[in-house]
Amino acid sequence: MTKYHDNTNCIHSPVHFDDPHGALTAPLYQTSTFQFKDAAQGAARFAGEEAGYIYTRLGNPTTRELEQKLAQLEEMEEAAATATGMGAVSASVLSFLEQGDHLIASSALYGCSFALFSHMLPKWGIEVSFVDMTNEAELYAAVKPNTKMVFAETPINPNMTVIDLAMLGQFAKKHSLISVVDNTFMTPLLQKPKHFGIDIVIHSATKYLNGHGDVVAGAVCGSQEHIELIKLTVLKDIGATISPHDAWLINRGLKTLAVRVERHCQSAQKVAEFLDAHPKVSEVYYPGLPSHPGYKFLGEQMKGAGGVIAFEIDGTLEQGERFINATELCTLAVSLGDPETLIQHPASMTHSPYTKEEREAAGISDGLIRISVGLEDVNDIIADLELAFKQI
Ligand SMILES: *Cc1c(COP(=O)(O)O)cnc(C)c1O
Repeated sequence: MTKYHDNTNCIHSPVHFDDPHGALTAPLYQTSTFQFKDAAQGAARFAGEEAGYIYTRLGNPTTRELEQKLAQLEEMEEAAATATGMGAVSASVLSFLEQGDHLIASSALYGCSFALFSHMLPKWGIEVSFVDMTNEAELYAAVKPNTKMVFAETPINPNMTVIDLAMLGQFAKKHSLISVVDNTFMTPLLQKPKHFGIDIVIHSATKYLNGHGDVVAGAVCGSQEHIELIKLTVLKDIGATISPHDAWLINRGLKTLAVRVERHCQSAQKVAEFLDAHPKVSEVYYPGLPSHPGYKFLGEQMKGAGGVIAFEIDGTLEQGERFINATELCTLAVSLGDPETLIQHPASMTHSPYTKEEREAAGISDGLIRISVGLEDVNDIIADLELAFKQI
């Protein structure tokens, strides 16, 4: 627990820089390496006998500021910043799993996490079972003697299916599994998996944390022991380390995270209600709508429903394509959490690493459209969508 609220902690860093000029903003340490005073100091740093920086792949003060801010926001002991969100996902699984281990993963996941788990981990002798984690019995039935980790994402991209984190945390404790949750869609402001006993929290900082669409990066938060292992093995030796410049930009982006997330949630709620009432829309997936199964998790688990909505056009795939081609303000692009409203077609874009059968199993139909509601005036976003509906 810290002295201040989250929205204050987004702005003020827990690290104090003794800048000789008294700069308000922490400087950017754009350096690959750090000088030692003498041979003894270099040796002491390598031996871990003296604190201090050595080389940016192993640590950098700008990166460190970001890590400490994120650890504080997630209320976890430590964090490791990574080059991308996938760098965070891969570092988390590869640091803890080895040949012969078994991973239980959610059957619906971010497309590249699914590809890593279904295509690459088995090549290295790591077994993976994909289960529908809204079904507690299915989750418990998936445990094997060699199960070591459980990996989930909530709400699940793109259908916004919510997984019960208290149930998941209890399941992991019961079977002594390392639990990992990808918290990208919620940010630590809307959901803190730690509160439900989750061990490791992952972010694609590319999305809301940076929030300006100009960086790809990620982070892993967890206990001191877990993060140390990640830093000293996969991050050090495989090397998905963040660039200090990207870390600096995310430190800047974080200062406005609280106001941005609040606006994303408010506008997404209005857009979801507009879509829900629209005659050309057959289904809307947004946990802020009482008809969504995730709605009951608002409050206890999630402080808000987030900024991403998926919906089905009542029509053919061609009409769906015509719809996304007809928007003017809503930009046709993948990613989310940017100031710009982004619209995309999961079946042919973000979830194309899935086969058609795998998409069906994960509930991703060909007619599904995903929208990341941006920070523009919500009336302009809704008017743009209405214009596009008129074209189909
Ligand atoms: C974008 C995303 C990732 C991957 O992050 P990158 O920064 O693109 O590597 C992982 N999980 C979720 C939920 C995402 O949205």
